[in-house]
Amino acid sequence: NDNAIDIPSLQWYPGHMRKAERLVKENLKLVDVVIELLDARIPMSSANPVLREIVGGKPRVIVLNKADLADEAATRAWVNCFATQGITAVPVDAVKGRGVKELVQAIAKCAKQKTDKLVQHGAKARAARCMILGIPNVGKSSLINRLSGGSKTKVENRPGVTRAKQWIRIGAQLELLDMPGILWPKFEDRQAALHLAFTGAINDNVYDVASVVLLLLDTLRMRYPSDLMERYRLEKELPSGMELLEEIGRKRGCLRAGGKVDYEKAEQIVLTDFRSGRLGRVTLDDFPPIPTI
Ligand code: GDP
Repeated sequence: NDNAIDIPSLQWYPGHMRKAERLVKENLKLVDVVIELLDARIPMSSANPVLREIVGGKPRVIVLNKADLADEAATRAWVNCFATQGITAVPVDAVKGRGVKELVQAIAKCAKQKTDKLVQHGAKARAARCMILGIPNVGKSSLINRLSGGSKTKVENRPGVTRAKQWIRIGAQLELLDMPGILWPKFEDRQAALHLAFTGAINDNVYDVASVVLLLLDTLRMRYPSDLMERYRLEKELPSGMELLEEIGRKRGCLRAGGKVDYEKAEQIVLTDFRSGRLGRVTLDDFPPIPTI
């Protein structure tokens, strides 16, 4: 299974990465606060490996998005883990809008510290500006839509540097850049790449689906066996590997003529069930041990 995931840089070749980074850096100059979107199911795997370098010392709020699909206890542990590092992380469901109010408060609080400082140094009081950063598919557009309340209240174009930029007003104190920063995921890290494939963050046609589904089943069998048993009405003794996939195929009626299991169909069912949360709320990345300073 070692070749299951050899994520090619099909969409992220070095030139593309440098361009993405340059775009983000340009926009960063315009904002006070960065909103980093992570997938709550894989907060480590969905992080950009060099985000800290790119963002530098800018205040940052973390969104644990797709929290509706993640294990609630694990999400709480992650929030605490970030808190020990002095970072506010907010669980959000950008589609349904859960957690968005709390997020706006967290951003406003983070931004206020920055804008207060500017005022102390003699600048005119103004709304705080923020932008969203994250890897593809993590929910950036969905969150922008939610934050703008569907109807985008555009702030008028400003002359000068920000001429071409569109800003969305959120409440009285905040402005959000209408264009998220897209960064690449951790595809050199095999475990992270697998987790990205499981969750659908990378395109299914750039890896071997059959091997990846077997690895996903293996992971679920170890971490969330009862969800698997419940969904597919399996017996207590869960088989492993192909046997488990075969069993699922039979239970779900994925059969070819002659009664043979249609593995490809079974693989698609497992992937779709997992990604839509029908296999339960699952977190794949454990939070790292709290660093001792
Ligand atoms: P972007 O590429 O980062 O802009 O991601 P999108 O906003 O286009 O979202 C990618 C997919 O994830 C879409 O199918 C969204 O409906 C879905 N999605 C986004 N946020 C959430 C969420 O909080 N929960 C769930 N269940 N799905 C989400």
